[in-house]
Amino acid sequence: MERENAWKKYDDPAMKELEAVSANYRRFLDSGKTERECAEYAIAMAEKNGYASLEEAIRAGKKLEPGAKLWASPMGKTIMLFIIGREPLENGMNIVGAHIDSPRMDLKQNPLYEDSDLAYLDTHYYGGIKKYQWVTLPLALHGVVCKKDGTKVNVVVGEDEDDPVLCISDLLIHLSAEQLQKKGAEVIGGEDLNLIIGGRPLKDTEEKEAVKANVLNILKEKYDFEEEDFLSAEIEVVPAGRARELGLDRSMILGYGHDDRVCAYAELEAIFGIEGVPARTVCCLFADKEEIGSVGATGMQAKYFENAFAELMNLTGEYCDLKLRRGLANSKMLSCDVSAGYDPNFASVFEKKNSAFLGRGVCFNKYTGARGKSGSNDANAEYMAEVRKIMDDANVSFQTAELGRVDAGGGGTIAYICALYCMNVIDSGVAVLSMHAPWEIISKADLYEAVKGYRAFLVNA
Ligand code: MN
Ligand code: MN
Repeated sequence: MERENAWKKYDDPAMKELEAVSANYRRFLDSGKTERECAEYAIAMAEKNGYASLEEAIRAGKKLEPGAKLWASPMGKTIMLFIIGREPLENGMNIVGAHIDSPRMDLKQNPLYEDSDLAYLDTHYYGGIKKYQWVTLPLALHGVVCKKDGTKVNVVVGEDEDDPVLCISDLLIHLSAEQLQKKGAEVIGGEDLNLIIGGRPLKDTEEKEAVKANVLNILKEKYDFEEEDFLSAEIEVVPAGRARELGLDRSMILGYGHDDRVCAYAELEAIFGIEGVPARTVCCLFADKEEIGSVGATGMQAKYFENAFAELMNLTGEYCDLKLRRGLANSKMLSCDVSAGYDPNFASVFEKKNSAFLGRGVCFNKYTGARGKSGSNDANAEYMAEVRKIMDDANVSFQTAELGRVDAGGGGTIAYICALYCMNVIDSGVAVLSMHAPWEIISKADLYEAVKGYRAFLVNA
């Protein structure tokens, strides 16, 4: 069954709202190029919207009443926002969960070296990337350097108009006869992702590596850290520059990190737009480390979500282990992550009846996975029926999709991890073209429908 293009239904007020959401989303993308930056931005938005720190509520032992709004951000790389509902937590929450880490390159622990009068930073890529896409484009550094004295230096280079940018070189076509015979995965190797950061030697010095020495001087002067401080730094290498409107009709957005910040942002707009006190407690969740398997203390496999839920139960006076388990099992979740948009340029990897098209609304993937649904969370039909009804009742344009043709490849999300609590979970997101490329493409209409769909779910599920 073919779904209608959402653009056709918009009247003037809807168009105005859609453009406002899109403009705000672009600001979010420009300000949030790392998980830390996204979390910081979300906290600032939450506080402006009347959310208080859960950690402070715990410290104060403050009793939580229905309508209480709280934020928590374990390690500054994850986010949980809650509105306490009228029903007991034992009845479960309505959750929308996305991830805010995106594919990129990270600086290695000992990154800086000099070769042939150029200074470089060595990187290790993060998540699934086509390495050849990351050469010859302007790159920026975003991150933190943590020093032994406990201070933290924030680093952002390459975003201001007057900032310098960084770049990885590629081989000139004239000498590429051998390179171009290689497989795509090998055209640029993992150890070829070396970032050029300097080319001018320090004058009047005995230093053998004078270009590197000059760079170190600049780092000391501008950011007050030494070479050894790279050992305790987290600096991410990302495309430099802003998200842009795409197409003469401005219907799309070209940006870095739509996966999965587009769903994260839709969640924020959805929860901040909720009026009054919802029946069930609602939760907006951002996880980290999804792109490398949801591992580590900030990945979805860690216990921060369960812990926060226990803390909420404690502060509402409900806590006991059995009620906690019931509450988790009674929860309902949209695992909000981007889906593969149908690309006519690469039609052979899609099956058209079960593909997501740009502009046809928020996308639901009953299952993801690869080769026989392996690794997927296959949502229950009963639950899918409930979600369909919520979308239709709220006049939300939605479509359903699989992640490409059977046996063409596949992928996963955080859905299967949350489903371990025995709650109903379904994947839902925005269709993306060029997923995991430095610059990805989405339709503004799909973002707008995601906002409306997520809000309807939070309030009505
Ligand atoms: Mn994703
Ligand atoms: Mn991804």
